[in-house]
This record gives sequence, structure tokens and C-alpha cells, in this order.
Amino acid sequence: MSENKIPLAGVIGYPIAHSKSPLLHAHWLKTYNLPGHYIPLDINTEDLEVVLRMMPKMGFVGANVTIPHKERVLELADLITDRATLIGAVNTLIFRPDGKIHADNTDGYGFITNLKQSAPHWNPQSGPAAVMGAGGAARAVITSLLDAGVPEILISNRTKIRAEALRADFGKRLTVVDWVQAGNMFEEATTVVNTTSLGMIGKPPLRVPLDGLRAGSVVTDLVYAPLKTNFLVEAEQRGCFIVDGLGMLLHQAIPGFERWFGLRPEVDTATRTAALR
Ligand code: NAP
Repeated sequence: MSENKIPLAGVIGYPIAHSKSPLLHAHWLKTYNLPGHYIPLDINTEDLEVVLRMMPKMGFVGANVTIPHKERVLELADLITDRATLIGAVNTLIFRPDGKIHADNTDGYGFITNLKQSAPHWNPQSGPAAVMGAGGAARAVITSLLDAGVPEILISNRTKIRAEALRADFGKRLTVVDWVQAGNMFEEATTVVNTTSLGMIGKPPLRVPLDGLRAGSVVTDLVYAPLKTNFLVEAEQRGCFIVDGLGMLLHQAIPGFERWFGLRPEVDTATRTAALR
């Protein structure tokens, strides 16, 4: 790229129209008065490789990657961070000047940074964490919870074998609980996370009994549409401290923005408002 070119970045997915990332990055570019553009790129799996190879030549300095490409990109990247390898998926790409594609996963970073910012009193070592779900997002959440020093993670998923696979990968600090008994996990847990898509607009509700939730525990949902899910509403009614999923989405975007546009952005109220527009 020549010296004076305006840096481009974007988010690659299929479909991509729903993505909040273009609003978020446009807000930061404007707030910090930086040159650059961030655009949604609707790319199907068949075209992914050729598009990725062309993007640096077109002036792209990097991209976010979302469903359904997060795993496939692992095979196409030239360099992969340890955390992306551990999570088994990629959400952030950097196109290096030497032509190499550098792949990272910032979902776990986004999750834990959001939790720390939104619940400053949260102490990861205060007790076990209960995690519902064992999909791609759960892997990122578990990596970051273990890293933060959570002593034990109780995990439950409708398809038990997926939770058992996580235990096989992450080890003895994980205990698998049957999905029909998922509610029992909450009795001990001081941190509770929903990583399933249940409760999201257009998806079935989360039906796990919540009577076991402890007052004072920190409860968070990765679902952010609606912003305050029924799970969070009920948890709040039981005296839990709740954290919504929008913050994770905003925080996971920070490392990419900093690498592409040269400035580390802040997540504040104006950022949330911009992403919700
Ligand atoms: P995924 O890999 O498709 O996993 C979906 C999870 O939801 C699995 O655990 C799945 O269980 C469970 N699930 C789906 N339908 C269910 C049902 N009817 N009953 C019980 N469990 C059900 O998706 P993902 O990438 O992990 O994402 C999960 C959610 O997190 C999505 O809503 C996504 O939007 C959200 N997310 C948010 C952020 C953020 O920044 N806030 C980041 C990433 C993801 P099975 O294994 O049994 O199918």
C-alpha cells in the first residue's frame, strides 16, 4: 500500500447485514478523527480464500471474521496466535506488509474485559463459574475465565458430548453437568454465563430453572438482542449483578481497531449508543 492510502478494514460474513461492527468502527473513526473506512463484506465460503488474498492489494489492512468463516480462516491464515489456536476460531485478521495473514481471536479478551469494566467488584477467584452452552463462544469464554483465575467451571450443554469435548481440551478445572440439571450449577456459582443462543430474538427462550441463582453472583449473557434478556431480568430480580452481552462485542473490537488504525479506542456510553443505532 502506498504511503497516502486511506486504510480499509471490514467484517467478512455470510450474511452480514445484521452486523453492528460497521457502526462501531465508524463511530471510533469519527470520534478520534482518523482516516479510514470499515465496511461489511458479504462473502460466501466458496469465495473466501480468493477474497482474503485480494484484500491487502485493495488497501485493506485487516478484517473481522464472523459466522460462518471463523473456523475456516484458521486454515487460510499464515500466522495464528496461541489464543486463536486454543479457541479453535478466528475473529480478527491483520494483513501484514509482507503479505502474510495474521489471525487472532479477541472474543475471550472482549468477554473478560467487559466483565471487569461492567462489574469492577467481580472477583474471579470467589467461587466456581457456571457456563451454559458449549459452542464456539463458550470456548472463548472458558479460555478467558480459566486465565482470569476462576477455580472451577461447571459446564452444561444440550448436546453433552460438546461439553465433554471442552473438558477434554481444557482439563480438570471443568466439570460437565447434564443439561436437565443445569439449574443445579447455580447454587455454588459466583459467576454465571449464558453462551447459548437461547433468549435471543427469534430463538427459543432459555428454560433452565433459575431459582438456584445466588444473590450477589455476577450473571452475564452473551446474547445482546434483546439487550436485557429474560435471563438477565430474572437474575436481577434474584439479587444478582447483571452484565449484558453488548459490552463483549464492543471490547472484542478494540485490538483490531488499534492494529488497523493506530489508536486504542475506549468503550464508553457513546460507543454503546452508536452500536445500538
Ligand atoms: P454456536 O457455536 O452455534 O453454539 C450455540 C450454542 O447454543 C450451543 O451450546 C447450542 O447447544 C446452544 N443451543 C442452541 N439452540 C439450543 C436449544 N434449542 N436448546 C439448548 N441449547 C441450544 O454459537 P456461538 O458462536 O457459540 O454463539 C452463541 C451465542 O453467543 C449466539 O447468540 C451469539 O450471537 C452470541 N455471541 C455473542 C458475542 C458477543 O460479543 N456478545 C460473541 C460471540 C457469540 P448444542 O451444542 O446442543 O447445539
